[in-house]
Amino acid sequence: MKKVVVVGSINMDLVTRCKRAPKGGETLFGEEFFQVPGGKGANQAVAIGKLGTEVTMLGKVGKDSFGKDLINSMKESGVDARYIEEGEKSTGIAKIIVEENGQNRILVVAGANSEVDKAYIDRYLDVIKECDIVVAQLEIPVEIVAYALAKAKEFGKMTILNPAPARELDDEIIKNSDLIIPNESELALITGMPTETEEEIKKAGEKLLDMGVSNLIVTLGSKGSLHLNREVCEFHSAYKVKAIDTTAAGDSFIGGLVRELKDNNVGEAIEFATKVSAIAVTRKGAQTSIPTIEEVENFEG
Ligand code: ADP
Repeated sequence: MKKVVVVGSINMDLVTRCKRAPKGGETLFGEEFFQVPGGKGANQAVAIGKLGTEVTMLGKVGKDSFGKDLINSMKESGVDARYIEEGEKSTGIAKIIVEENGQNRILVVAGANSEVDKAYIDRYLDVIKECDIVVAQLEIPVEIVAYALAKAKEFGKMTILNPAPARELDDEIIKNSDLIIPNESELALITGMPTETEEEIKKAGEKLLDMGVSNLIVTLGSKGSLHLNREVCEFHSAYKVKAIDTTAAGDSFIGGLVRELKDNNVGEAIEFATKVSAIAVTRKGAQTSIPTIEEVENFEG
């Protein structure tokens, strides 16, 4: 059976709903508060685990109750959390203020995520050696992502990079990523090109291929996704569902894709990932919205 390692971020999302966000110096009452496990790395590991694939999370939390809660939440979803270490800083958090008009204000403190370093990765090289696929995002220091991907390639593993949050990528990272999965805005930032229309997305995708990426999936929200390499240029439509909360749409897509990926069946794996993410957007929350394998199998579309 396939084994996956996710190297990435673990955050607690602290969500406050209110009529409007307070201005500087102002105190207001909000309507509702909830605490939701998040972080792109943890979300993707939970998605892979919930879908029944063996997955290990590599990352750091703080010595605090958020860290313990997050580790428990990952374990409950079938993620091997044994190698997650406690750093000196607090667990990573995202303070999210959601106004009545739907506007979000988000403040992220990376905390222990910023303490994932080369020495940490070196302690778990055997875990990477024993897996088949390594998945990474950009919420831990980018040089550590580059290091982990380089090690994974050295050991002959398949590597997948979700380049989020958006930033420019250096050649080293691109060279060591077998499959890159950006959304439209991440693709725009990496390539410096517009990605408003289908034509522009294809052109920007081709530029990324020219930069050395061999396989690319651009996720396009409710429009679906585009799979691009030197032989293939294929759109996959999204399911028409009533979207309630698109948090973790991309993370659940990656979970589905990784679960289904075999030798060279990216197209089929995208079909499965499209189903997984369609279910996720019909439910509230990040990790809580990700379906189990049974729910995906029963999905009618
Ligand atoms: P991200 O969360 O990284 O920005 P996207 O918004 O592009 O990712 O969503 C990832 C995938 O989730 C899409 O390719 C699509 O298959 C699915 N998806 C996203 N939004 C919707 C929606 N409103 N309806 C159906 N599927 C959706």
